Amino acid sequence: MGEIQPRTCAALLLLALIQVNTATSVHWGYENDGPSRWSKIFPLCGETRQSPINIVNSKVYARQKIGNITMIGYDKPITMKIRNNGHTARIDITRGDVFITNGGLPGKYKLLQLHFHWGSDNGKGSEHTINGERFPMEVHLVHYLTSAANVGEALTLPGGLAAIGFMFEISEDDNNEYDNIISKLPQITEYRDGDIFSVPLAEFAIGDLLPNNPCHFYRYFGSLTTPSCNEIVVWSVFKEKINISERQLSEFRKLMTSEGGHLQNNFRPVQPLNGRVVQANFNVADTDDWLEEKENDGMEKEE
Ligand SMILES: [Zn+2]
Repeated sequence: MGEIQPRTCAALLLLALIQVNTATSVHWGYENDGPSRWSKIFPLCGETRQSPINIVNSKVYARQKIGNITMIGYDKPITMKIRNNGHTARIDITRGDVFITNGGLPGKYKLLQLHFHWGSDNGKGSEHTINGERFPMEVHLVHYLTSAANVGEALTLPGGLAAIGFMFEISEDDNNEYDNIISKLPQITEYRDGDIFSVPLAEFAIGDLLPNNPCHFYRYFGSLTTPSCNEIVVWSVFKEKINISERQLSEFRKLMTSEGGHLQNNFRPVQPLNGRVVQANFNVADTDDWLEEKENDGMEKEE
């Protein structure tokens, strides 16, 4: 923070493009090379609209008119593969079209990948926090704007990506919808550089991983939570939570980083809001009255 020299927008954009192309080859992590140092190599990580954030219900601006996100293809089995990229267990869609639109999103977005953030114990792991509360795991489903020429271009556009996040909570019983994923984790324990080390998953519908009929979410504009931290993400953080058992979560904690340590606590600390407004499509205060609609809330231009 504060070390960034003034640059023109064009220069910043060029820098962002270079970082997107080289991010996989430049080392970063969550320990010695952790989040407080990212901005030394990836200047965008020191900018002012970063993610994740702490969501404070009393400051959330609830707006009925945002409506619900329409999830298209979430109910259809699709083909996917999973790999340990040294930072997370990442699942890429290999065949099948899954989209989100509506719900105040500035376009239609296609699902690219999903991945997880988890802790070494149940008291931490999520990236977003709600009223300061941390959750043991958080899944991010990353979608890119279909009107962009490709993912690379989406990474340069405001609102180029739409990420949706769900928190997990510990349940007594296993969540069997996660068996397809967790059964493959022993095959990706060690970090292997390259997509060829991906392991195919049995086909299943993405919606099976989610709570039934998820519809309540918080909305704000932020960034990728990993380098190069591009500030192009429309975030929807859902209120409904996913169950997972302690046993299942322990399988994620067995994964290893590129340096041979345990891959856990792979979450970035919450970032300052810097005047951003968090909205919600539900009545956060849970009273009969929705908060009064304000005029210049800083989000209008995005809708
Ligand atoms: Zn993430």
